[in-house]
Amino acid sequence: MKILVCVKQVPDTEEIKIDPVTGSLIREGVPAILNPLDACALEAAVRLKEAYGGTVTVLSMGPPQAKEALKQCVAVGADEAVLITDRAFKDADTLATSYALSMTARQLDAFDLIVCGKHTLDGETGQVGPQIAEHLDWSQVTHVMDMKVEEGKLLAVREMEEGREVVEAMLPCVVSVTKTLYKPRYPTIKSKLAAGKKEILTLSADEIENLDKERIGMAGSRTKVAKSFTAPTGQAGMIIQEETAEASGRKLAQILLEAKLV
Ligand SMILES: Cc1cc2nc3c(=O)[nH]c(=O)nc-3n(C[C@H](O)[C@H](O)[C@H](O)COP(=O)(O)OP(=O)(O)OC[C@H]3O[C@@H](n4cnc5c(N)ncnc54)[C@H](O)[C@@H]3O)c2cc1C
Repeated sequence: MKILVCVKQVPDTEEIKIDPVTGSLIREGVPAILNPLDACALEAAVRLKEAYGGTVTVLSMGPPQAKEALKQCVAVGADEAVLITDRAFKDADTLATSYALSMTARQLDAFDLIVCGKHTLDGETGQVGPQIAEHLDWSQVTHVMDMKVEEGKLLAVREMEEGREVVEAMLPCVVSVTKTLYKPRYPTIKSKLAAGKKEILTLSADEIENLDKERIGMAGSRTKVAKSFTAPTGQAGMIIQEETAEASGRKLAQILLEAKLV
């Protein structure tokens, strides 16, 4: 199986700051990490490779420092790593991002499967995986917690709020995965050292065949940030800590009664 995993480097913080003028995230000076769910996507791909053979390629669109995240992926099982990086990709919304990723996927190889994370830690739209499937006109399965291949088809278990759903999809297919079963493995010192020496294929916008420049970066983005603001934080709460859970419950009931809330 030829598997492509899309990975994004995200700011290592939950305190994301937004530029009040442009409405974009401020990324400068914030340490970056591999998007946690993309580590799960890679784990899913490496398990499939171990079960059926084949290769795993990781692909990222981002600044040159995203190479670090790609090397981290090589250390835990990716065979090849590709970074598409260019100022022309800047200010891309999810549509422009997924277009650039899908055009690169077409050029790189005849993949059977593309694996994405369910969403990222920063943008958190969950749109990029499904949009890649649309650009490529492939089948897609979201919220995947487990999968296998049987008779050339993908059998995926979807993690739903109300239970589990098993679906069958034709290959090639794009899936987005959850973290429940895909706990990422740790690299070894040896694999880390080897990954450090791995050459990352770096492509600019001009090196991606048939890429329509009107569909990437700001030109290709259909989303405009109309307004952004930081929501006011709530007032400090109260922690009830009696000796037993029962006593805490009684105290809570008393407070609610006194406040005429029940
Ligand atoms: C107007 C506007 C301007 C923006 N400008 C910028 C900018 O200049 N720089 C910037 O970094 N972001 C920018 N963004 C944010 C950018 O559009 C999103 O970060 C990006 O499209 C991915 O969306 P997401 O984070 O919601 O990913 P999701 O859809 O939540 O991600 C799902 C999965 O898709 C894959 N994926 C997502 N993004 C990538 C990627 N880049 N490479 C590989 N795989 C990926 C991963 O597997 C991920 O788990 C901008 C957004 C808007 C609306």
